[in-house]
Amino acid sequence: MTKLDCTVTTCIHNAEKCCCKSGILVEGAQAKNCCDTCCGSFEENRGGLFKNLFKTPESKLEVECDVANCLYNDDHQCRAERITIAGDGAMAVGQTECASFREK
Ligand code: SF4
Ligand code: SF4
Repeated sequence: MTKLDCTVTTCIHNAEKCCCKSGILVEGAQAKNCCDTCCGSFEENRGGLFKNLFKTPESKLEVECDVANCLYNDDHQCRAERITIAGDGAMAVGQTECASFREK
């Protein structure tokens, strides 16, 4: 399990800069940089809700990850102790990224 911070406050799953899902999928099979990765579980909060009132942030998540050439990737699972998903103001999956990506 990975401790996750997420600055994507426009995502419906975000509360208090954490993610409320029990697991996410990070994508970017050919990534060379952080910006080539993204959180595939992002969903834009179109309802205009200010905060996610009904969900509790999960501090640790299962992070499935397609970025095979990241140092922390082990058989499609993220083994980093802590990662940050970034993308303040994102309106689409492609505007998010795993800021903790390190090329192997
Ligand atoms: S962008 Fe990804 S990690 Fe962040 S809150 Fe949304 S689903 Fe969770
Ligand atoms: S740190 Fe690496 S393995 Fe973990 S989610 Fe980010 S890109 Fe995937």
